[in-house]
Amino acid sequence: MTPTPSVNRAALQGAPAESTGHDAHLAFARRMDRIDGLAHYRARFLGTDVDAELANPRAYLDGNSLGRPVRASAERIAEFLNTEWGTRLIRGWDEQWMDLPLKIGDDLGRVCLGAAPGQVFVGDSTTVLLYKLARAAVDSRPQRTEIVLDRDNFPTDRYILEGIARERGLTLRWIDSDPEGGVTAEQVRQAVGRQTSLILLSHVAYRSGYLADMPAITAIAHEHGALVLWDLSHSVGSVPVELDLCDVDLAVGCSYKYLSGGPGAPAFGYVKSDLHDVLTQPIQGWMGAQAIFDMGPGYVPATGIRRFMSGTPAVVGMLAMQDTIAMLDEATIEAVRAKSVALTEFAITLVDEWLAPMGVTVASPREQTHRGGHVSVNHPLMRQVTKILWDNDVIPDFRAPNGLRLGLAPLSTSFVETYDGVAAVRDVLRGILLGQSGLAQ
Ligand SMILES: *Cc1c(COP(=O)(O)O)cnc(C)c1O
Repeated sequence: MTPTPSVNRAALQGAPAESTGHDAHLAFARRMDRIDGLAHYRARFLGTDVDAELANPRAYLDGNSLGRPVRASAERIAEFLNTEWGTRLIRGWDEQWMDLPLKIGDDLGRVCLGAAPGQVFVGDSTTVLLYKLARAAVDSRPQRTEIVLDRDNFPTDRYILEGIARERGLTLRWIDSDPEGGVTAEQVRQAVGRQTSLILLSHVAYRSGYLADMPAITAIAHEHGALVLWDLSHSVGSVPVELDLCDVDLAVGCSYKYLSGGPGAPAFGYVKSDLHDVLTQPIQGWMGAQAIFDMGPGYVPATGIRRFMSGTPAVVGMLAMQDTIAMLDEATIEAVRAKSVALTEFAITLVDEWLAPMGVTVASPREQTHRGGHVSVNHPLMRQVTKILWDNDVIPDFRAPNGLRLGLAPLSTSFVETYDGVAAVRDVLRGILLGQSGLAQ
């Protein structure tokens, strides 16, 4: 183990590390926060006191793993408890709760996904929805023998398809993508053929932040008669998505990342309307049945998107995401994307200037059109750096073996917060390197 590094406490407290002279980057960050049309949203999140000194944590750069809570959600949840649940009790199901998964789905579809009503629902976890929709897809193509996916996708995506392949006797055809980039249309073209039933990809790669070419890849899948399932976990709420325009078949995504639905909030699923009558999902519970309260002897699937639901919806878990969807509706996803691009550009500038001389490399696409809302940087000491940062109230994300992820949630992250976070990485890493090698500054 390396000895406890000496850390520049002053820098960790937010003072510019080079204490003499004008700090152009800090001045830039402050100016950007002043002119940013979305800056006022930051105050709507808990822990983001307008006075940056009081923010808690001081720099939160993990909004792509667990979004900060929205203040309005505290009221919404209390109100729900006291009134809707507290006094309406079982009547709540008839009055509002039954429709909530589809109502929120429609809102999310309109605001973030480019999906016409009746194609999105909220329910289950992303993992379970991946299973349900992928199984439905491969079962609709029984003569086909292969599923195309990539080795760098999020573990749950790969594991679920491993299981489906085993269950159905299918072969997984793996794409080896550039870990600092992602799956390209050309790679998909090479991998797909008449034997392909399904292609599963992430729209924004969880590690590199690579933004895949959804229209081109979806079109390639269709040329070969395959279905495509997009995982939108790292794009929803930060990158505009046009599911209908791209003719996407299926999509799933997380609501506790950029959507601030809270830990374990249910996921969402999209099924293109043309496929509603064609696909059969494997977890045929009563909530997906045609006449829910008839309690009939056998399963008859509902028409429309409801047939992809299974059990009782997690109503409490669906409350908070509505506040974020409302903000995104007001702010517009295009403005959110513009700020996201500016934040990631700024972070990369700071990394190049401050961290690259210490051996840190950018592991995300430099071209903004290929980059989602987070930036990954690599260095062999990042595990240790992250531990020290977390102890000092600066929260980035670590991804083994040596990646540090800077997740910049456009509605809640400010430019000064980004500055503070990257400055803290710089100071901690420098402290460790000085402690280890005894190098003079
Ligand atoms: C976060 C994430 C998940 C999470 O799935 P859960 O079922 O909520 O644990 C799945 N896929 C991707 C790509 C993710 O980024």
